[in-house]
Amino acid sequence: MPAPDLSRIRNFGIIAHIDAGKTTVSERILYYTGKEHSMGEVHEGSAKMDYLPEEQERGITITAAATTIAWREHILNLIDTPGHVDFTAEVERSLRVLDGAVVVFDAVSGVEAQSETVWRQADRYDVPRLCFVNKMDRGGADFEATLESIRRRLGATVAVAFRPVGAGDGFTGVLDLIARELVRFGGEQGRTVTREPVPIELYDEVEMERAELVETVANHDDGLAERYLAGGEVDAVSLRAGLRRATLSAKLFPVLCGAALRNIGVQPLLDAVVDYLPSPLDVGIVEGHDPERPERRIPIAPDPGAPVCALAFKILTDAHGDLTFVRLYAGTLEQGQGLYNPRLGKHERVMRLVRLHANEREPVDRATAGDILALMGPKATATGDTLCDKARPVALEPIRFPAPVISMAIEPRTNADRDRLNEALARLAREDPTFRTTQHEETGQTIIAGMGELHLEVLKNRLTRDFGIQANVGAPRVSYRQTVAGTAEVAHHFERLIGGKQQQATVRVRVEAQGSGSGLLVESVALPTELDPRYAAAAVEGARFAAQGGMGFPMVDLRVTVLGGRAHETESSETAFQAAAGAAFQAAAEKAGLVLLEPVMRIEVTTPSESVGPVTSDLVRRGAVLEGDELRGDLRVIHGSVPLSRMFGYSTAVRSLTQGRAGYSMEPAGFVPAPPEVAKGLMFS
Ligand code: GDP
Ligand code: MG
Repeated sequence: MPAPDLSRIRNFGIIAHIDAGKTTVSERILYYTGKEHSMGEVHEGSAKMDYLPEEQERGITITAAATTIAWREHILNLIDTPGHVDFTAEVERSLRVLDGAVVVFDAVSGVEAQSETVWRQADRYDVPRLCFVNKMDRGGADFEATLESIRRRLGATVAVAFRPVGAGDGFTGVLDLIARELVRFGGEQGRTVTREPVPIELYDEVEMERAELVETVANHDDGLAERYLAGGEVDAVSLRAGLRRATLSAKLFPVLCGAALRNIGVQPLLDAVVDYLPSPLDVGIVEGHDPERPERRIPIAPDPGAPVCALAFKILTDAHGDLTFVRLYAGTLEQGQGLYNPRLGKHERVMRLVRLHANEREPVDRATAGDILALMGPKATATGDTLCDKARPVALEPIRFPAPVISMAIEPRTNADRDRLNEALARLAREDPTFRTTQHEETGQTIIAGMGELHLEVLKNRLTRDFGIQANVGAPRVSYRQTVAGTAEVAHHFERLIGGKQQQATVRVRVEAQGSGSGLLVESVALPTELDPRYAAAAVEGARFAAQGGMGFPMVDLRVTVLGGRAHETESSETAFQAAAGAAFQAAAEKAGLVLLEPVMRIEVTTPSESVGPVTSDLVRRGAVLEGDELRGDLRVIHGSVPLSRMFGYSTAVRSLTQGRAGYSMEPAGFVPAPPEVAKGLMFS
């Protein structure tokens, strides 16, 4: 197989608030791009697909990290993005490897909490996006209001390329403003797309809206601006080209619409993925660094001839063995090839390369830069690791994963399962970097930690489903952190008999509070003339170890500096410096004032208006800070933030307050100082 032309690859994802229709849109996409179109070979009139969307087991194909489909002689890698905010990390990691995204909105609800969260994340990675206003067939569907909420809540400039014909029951098709055509969908599952001239009664409206589109694009693209200012007709080809350039800058967002459930509007969405979303060539150079010397930057161009550089963005464990999904940024990968994991300093081997399609795996011989596919063979590589050529070690920027906010004890139902449980937990942790497992120091219990109750619930179910292990879990607990209130310096002299040998060391340490979200920074500024660099390094390690272990809880948002130290001529060792620095750190942290931090969640509750009172007072009772509310359709949406510790079992509580009519979503919003009574209960009991 010849190497694919990079300009014909699209790596994209679909992101949406839960229930906006991501799964339905994805299923339609897989159906329309099914076998008949596979890999650019069009078999006219071939056998009927064996997996109509309704028959297909929901979600199976969609949960594959990357599914390859074909459309208009392009290879489209559809990257899975999760549908629940408990899995923020999944969104982060998919955004890292996809080049563009389709954001699905519900035409009745407009922009919802999660669409906003994900939109902001996509902003951070400058991901070009298309907006798809779905569910135009629902009663209350309002295209204009949805556009308005995209503009207002997301602050986005939109380019309406398609608009609906009718709404609700009267929604029959879409108008292609660029081509000036009415598009209808018929035949089996809307497979047959027919295009006809704009009906006379819509003609003026379409011309007006098209003119508006041309102006918007011209405002964002110099090429089109010239034509536009010259005053001539802007033809469809130049308008699409201008819209593509503007979309790639992630400053302008094309809007399409439809009703996936009614099979309306999905094929134009696929056309738009090809027409407007970036190819790996458009994304261009990414930056990595020398794993040994992080300050040495290494530009990675999507060049098939360069040494291999790939990012492992997802590990999937299943019955057929582990699949490591990679985005290949440079080079060519072949079966049997050796790879190097610089984080672990380990070699891995590609036993097999596989592409996942809707319902099958296709082994492939090779893959080139820009592509996304799965490897079989790597054993130790974890999510977020770089895999590269040993001859050119490089580390891509690691994927940022938030710290777990909730933990619980877990134990196997039978003692015989104990080892298997630990092994399974370790595998799950390799797959999912926001899932941690540790042993409790005093009780020896196994503790699992993650991003929310649902997250841990899902993992517990996987233990049973994928590993056949039954486990009991304890009550969920919030993961606390600590920081310091101010700045303090302490010098500590360590002196002890260890293994019959006198050991001593003196270390001077400073701790300083840093801004929220800045993590833990430990460094040494000790001069080599004052302190042997070997001892300085040991001191840094000792201080870091003490800070990570924390004064009861791991410490964050502080800077720890080893200022200096003194070694004894014969009785000093690295171990002594570690111990001295650890003790100096603890004393300094206490002197600077310890502050307990607890996780807070951003929450959005959608409730019928008559339940606003009880829902609000319940939230206030839980210590929520409310930020306001708004009307969405005939529902009221309440925004606020609330300590996670007060939200256990909230889904049951809010259901019973509203006879099951309210919905909510919650996402981690960082750590804040815990109220004194919480701190008191935890630290001094
Ligand atoms: P997801 O949570 O974003 O994956 O949303 P789903 O695709 O699971 O859809 C949520 C619900 O909305 C399901 O009951 C779908 O049948 C329904 N739905 C999806 N698309 C449409 C649509 O275009 N029109 C209508 N009326 N319902 C839809
Ligand atoms: Mg879904």
